[in-house]
Parts: sequence; structure tokens; C-alpha cells
Amino acid sequence: MSRFWSPIVQSLSPYTPGEQPKIAGLIKLNTNESPYPPSPAALEAMKAEAAETLRLYPDPEAVALRQALAARHGVRPEQVFVGNGSDEVLAHAFAGLLKHDLPLRFPDITYSFYPVYCGLYGIASQPVALDEAMRIRVADYPAGGPVIIANPNAPTGVALTAAEVEQLVAQNPDAPVVIDEAYVDFGGESVVSLIDRYPNLLVVQTMSKSRALAGLRVGYAFGDAALIEGLTRVKDSFNSYPLGRIAQVGAIASLEDETFFAARRDDVIEGRERMAAGLGQLGFEVLPSKANFVFARHRDRSGADLAQALRDRAILVRRFNAPRIADHLRITVGTDDQIERLLEALREILAG
Ligand code: PMP
Repeated sequence: MSRFWSPIVQSLSPYTPGEQPKIAGLIKLNTNESPYPPSPAALEAMKAEAAETLRLYPDPEAVALRQALAARHGVRPEQVFVGNGSDEVLAHAFAGLLKHDLPLRFPDITYSFYPVYCGLYGIASQPVALDEAMRIRVADYPAGGPVIIANPNAPTGVALTAAEVEQLVAQNPDAPVVIDEAYVDFGGESVVSLIDRYPNLLVVQTMSKSRALAGLRVGYAFGDAALIEGLTRVKDSFNSYPLGRIAQVGAIASLEDETFFAARRDDVIEGRERMAAGLGQLGFEVLPSKANFVFARHRDRSGADLAQALRDRAILVRRFNAPRIADHLRITVGTDDQIERLLEALREILAG
């Protein structure tokens, strides 16, 4: 606390990111990173860029990257926005699109950054409860104020179909609807192809998960050119150069290495299914996940105890101390070896 803080700072409840501890031999299954390295082609492109031009500012409009994203997703470059991680893209969407007279609606259990942005930008919000199966019900979002939904949802991993998302967007023609597809590559259905039909739809994605580039900070959004122009106005009132040269070049090279991307994504999906089955055999209830993590609760052991016992064995998972989910663990899919060691550790803990 300092008397030099502006009044809003005192009222903020900032987001708490998952830990990034430096413990030797740690199995880190707490922040939904990829357990695999990024594309070697992307690493090469970034090394070359670093040797060349860091003296100069990057392209503030990231034209080449936006063209590459547009080509990959079958849209036009003016329908693409890029930012420093999808968190920054989301922040600009909150400031530039989601602040209106009616409160912003999002699920009561979802990405915990959404209420934080509401605090920062003074946006009134209205949580909408998930159903008993921890699913989002489209009928609970009738025509009204703005909406933001993570699909697959976090931290549950549960996904709506594209038809369900379309229904939600269609029944809210007078409100902006943001779909946060941070985890969509792991088996979810993207709605990017709907942006031509729905001028109120913004779809946000990231290179942090399925492209193993969390450390590079590249996020992006697809939407009607007028929505993108709104985001660009916010960006150019905040930071003209959110993506450095290395990030732009690395992101483009990652998009060009489709074979590598698809192989690693499939490895994660396979790992998820094995991990979910293993947890089920150990007495966990596991929600059906379309993400690179699972959300699971043990029949008779508390989430806090299990998370601590895993931590004692140098395995980090994420737990949220919040109503309805305090006994759940969110466990990121690891390599085959990490999954084996997680299941082995849980076997020991549960036997003890
Ligand atoms: N959306 C969701 C649902 C997430 O879980 C995350 C990762 N914490 C993000 C967005 C942000 O990811 P990034 O800023 O790394 O793109």
C-alpha cells in the first residue's frame, strides 16, 4: 500500500497466475503449458531474427503474421487482431467491446481473469451458474448484455459444440459475444468460420498451449473487420508494439510447420485420454475434457490434501479455492513419463 497509488489500484483483486517455481526434477502440471518443445523450425526462425534486426522496432500492425493467421484460418487479414498473449487480446476486448450499459455475463466457474478485467475496467458483471454436470447451458444466455465464454471452458475442460455456440451468438444479435478458444485445438469445435455471418462474434485463440509457445506471448482474435478495428483503436491507445520481432517471426514459422503442430497436438490428446482413464481407475470423477488438462475430484479425499501430497513429491497441479470446485484438481496433460509418475504418486498417496 502506498499513498501514491491511484484510487482504482486499491480496489483491484489481481489474477494469481499458477506458480513457476525453480525446483529440480519438478513435474509441472499446473499451468496448462505444452510438455513438448515448440517447432524446431520456429526456434530456427527466431534465432535468425535475433541475430539480424533487434535494433529496429517491429511492425506495429504485424501484417505478415496477420496474413499467415488469415490464410491458416480461411479469413481475411482485416478480420485478424494479434496481441501479447491472448490475455492482452482479452483485456482489449473487455475495454473496447464488452463494456456496455448491461452487465457482462459469463459462467460462475470459468477463467478467473474475466472478473479481474471487470475490476480493472469498471465493468458490471453477472455470473451465470453452470449446471450440475458443470456444463454451460446456452438457454441461460437469452438476448441481453455482452457475453464471454471460454470454449472449452476452463478449468473444467468441458466443451460446447459449434452448433451450441452458434445458437448463443444468434440469440444475442445486439450484444458482443466473445468466445475464448484458448484450448480449442485439443478436440473442441472452433467457430472462427462463423465470423462472416455474425458481426457480434469475436473468437480469441493463443499459441501458448497447442503450439508450445507460452513463453513467446502470442494471442490473436478473429472477428468482423469493424470489431477488429475497435480492438486496434484500444491497442494503439495502449502499446503500438505488443509483439516483438522475435514473436512475430516465431509465430509465423510455427503456423508454417503444420505437420509438427498436428503431431504434438495428437500426442497431448492421447495423453489426456490415458491420464483420464488412469485417474478414473484410482477413484477420481473426471469431467469429459476437450482441453490439454483434466478437472477431477476424488471420491473420498480432499483436493487440498491431494494437491499438497503431490507437491511433497515434486508434482505441481492447480487447485482453486472456490465454491463447488475446492475439491477438484486441474491437472495439465504431461509427457507419457510424467503421466506415469503422476498416476504412480497418486496410487501411493491413496494407499497411505
Ligand atoms: N484464456 C484461457 C481460458 C486461459 O486458460 C488462458 C491461460 N491462462 C488464457 C486465455 C491466456 O493465455 P495466453 O495469455 O498465454 O495466451
